[in-house]
Amino acid sequence: MTADTAAVQHDEHPAGVDRPLEPVEGYSSRGRLERVLRRGEFAVTAELNPPDSADPQDVYDRARVFDGWVDGINAVDASGANCHMSSVGICSLLTRMGYAAIMQIACRDRNRIAIQGDVLGAAAMGVSNILCLTGDGVQAGDQPGAKPVFDLDSMSLLETIRIMRDNGKLLSGRKLTSPPCVFLGAAVNPFAPPYDFRPYHLGKKIEAGAQFVQTQYCFDVPMFRSFMQKARDLGHTEKIFLLVGVGPLASAKTARWIRTNVPGIHIPDAVIKRLEGAQDQKKEGKQICIDIINEVKEIEGVSGIHVMAYRQEEYVAEIVDESGVLKGRRPWVRQARSTDPIERIERGGVTDIPAELVKSAHPSDPPPDGA
Ligand SMILES: Cc1cc2nc3c(=O)[nH]c(=O)nc-3n(C[C@H](O)[C@H](O)[C@H](O)COP(=O)(O)OP(=O)(O)OC[C@H]3O[C@@H](n4cnc5c(N)ncnc54)[C@H](O)[C@@H]3O)c2cc1C
Repeated sequence: MTADTAAVQHDEHPAGVDRPLEPVEGYSSRGRLERVLRRGEFAVTAELNPPDSADPQDVYDRARVFDGWVDGINAVDASGANCHMSSVGICSLLTRMGYAAIMQIACRDRNRIAIQGDVLGAAAMGVSNILCLTGDGVQAGDQPGAKPVFDLDSMSLLETIRIMRDNGKLLSGRKLTSPPCVFLGAAVNPFAPPYDFRPYHLGKKIEAGAQFVQTQYCFDVPMFRSFMQKARDLGHTEKIFLLVGVGPLASAKTARWIRTNVPGIHIPDAVIKRLEGAQDQKKEGKQICIDIINEVKEIEGVSGIHVMAYRQEEYVAEIVDESGVLKGRRPWVRQARSTDPIERIERGGVTDIPAELVKSAHPSDPPPDGA
């Protein structure tokens, strides 16, 4: 498929891109991602590198690279416990431009009062998907003296939002006049010990309210296969949409750095050897990612991929295209409109993405050649 030949999907409200889609009987949200998954299409989501900036254009430029290639854009919540533009702020900008935002909420920095308020505010802005996380500990980030909150964790956060949505109530029991219509997600890590526990952990998240999950980076397909076998045996894959986390490694040096410094990311020696043996390690990293996608997309129970191309977001389109996962489908593409909030886009002249915008979001994260 090429971007020019495939028909674009038009899941969009006729009165404006910033309006939620018409409700569908039995659906939790009015968003595009849930529709794609429930239609049985192989879904693609991607992580947006959050800017260290107060300029909305930085978010628009970073989202623009995913146009026509993804069904949802994840807005991280201070991942690695490093501060960047907030997920709620990024989602506000994404939804006004019509993008299907997946708002990540980590329980590290806010208590239940703040989080429930954020959920209502986000839903009012058109956020249809929320990924519930416990979150990385403050010691992982560049401000380890920050006070950790963890009033809730991923399970109780899922339950809280499910109660808000399905029972129309806050945790206090106070009624909501309009509940948040959101599709609920969680993270799972099949690559972290105790491995036998991970499928059961997924089951607990489903019980708590998860409707979709996005996994940690998959670099070990046999390990993922055995996780999926157990998840299928337990009946989990019939109850949830599972998107496999994938991403290109920029070099063997980066891979080693990640393996040593980022908890929960497992990179087998064979992957590092393959990178070391390549003349162009960056290109090989991209190819490894495509090869992994081609294997995992065939595994029963996999509903899509979640591409985390940290500092290599410009390769997401190529990775998705070359892996062929969309099978000729072309996800929604933003068209410039006269009502756009940003003049540069009104003129239809979105400029090339400045290189500095896709760099240095995490000062304490991977070495200069990125992940
Ligand atoms: C797709 C994805 C997106 C993420 N986005 C963010 C983000 O925006 N902000 C952020 O702060 N973090 C983010 N993380 C990191 C995530 O919070 C941590 O990896 C976390 O340890 C596991 O996910 P969880 O938050 O859902 O925790 P849960 O699954 O609820 O786990 C809670 C507790 O279980 C234990 N545990 C879980 N996994 C491990 C492990 N690998 N090793 C040891 N103990 C473990 C820990 O005690 C942890 O605190 C993301 C992870 C993934 C996979």
